[in-house]
Amino acid sequence: MSVARQIQNIRDAVQAACRAAARDPATVRLAAVSKTKPADVIQAALDVGQRLFAENRVQEAALKFPPLKAKYPDLRLHLIGPLQTNKVKQAFDVFDGIEVLDRASLALAIAKEAQKRGCCPDLFIEVNSGGEPQKAGILLPEAPAFINYCRRDLSLPVTGLMTIPPQGQDPIPYFERVAALAAEHELKNISMGMSGDFVAAIACGATEVRIGSAIFGAR
Ligand SMILES: *Cc1c(COP(=O)(O)O)cnc(C)c1O
Repeated sequence: MSVARQIQNIRDAVQAACRAAARDPATVRLAAVSKTKPADVIQAALDVGQRLFAENRVQEAALKFPPLKAKYPDLRLHLIGPLQTNKVKQAFDVFDGIEVLDRASLALAIAKEAQKRGCCPDLFIEVNSGGEPQKAGILLPEAPAFINYCRRDLSLPVTGLMTIPPQGQDPIPYFERVAALAAEHELKNISMGMSGDFVAAIACGATEVRIGSAIFGAR
């Protein structure tokens, strides 16, 4: 199936999930996860009006997106993969949002770069909601202090939380915990839900779903 067709299918499914959850569809944004996909495939998504994209590697995004952003000034790109402190400068050049803020050293590097430039991408704190040792993200018990540190001590523009729940389990309890944490801290953006679980995420309050394979096919 074509990218255009797949995007329409996902838009319809997002709408249906919103209706089922008695939510306004305008409160859920679709981020098209274009990692590993070439520019012509991304172009097909742009052609049907898709404007929010997400990539997991700084280097790859830096190669693919600048020409597309020049052509589409309203294109927005979010980073959803690991960010090393020595790549922060490059990340600022390419990304409008960084969804993987999960440790003090990274927060400090971002704050320093933001101070230098007088601007900062939208920041989401990544939460390791399943407490999985191999996964990135701040652990739930440490999240409140870290959120306060980023916002109060460093004055970073943290607007939301991002999470990837454990695989092979019911994601709903994890989505609910992250949504509750966002509410406690009055964070308006909740990035959760991928191709396999976005309907549940929307039911739990997601404001951004990150969809890759259901739009672009297997990687
Ligand atoms: C790859 C990726 C996605 C998209 O996953 P799909 O299952 O292909 O929709 C979403 N979020 C993150 C953080 C990812 O790395």
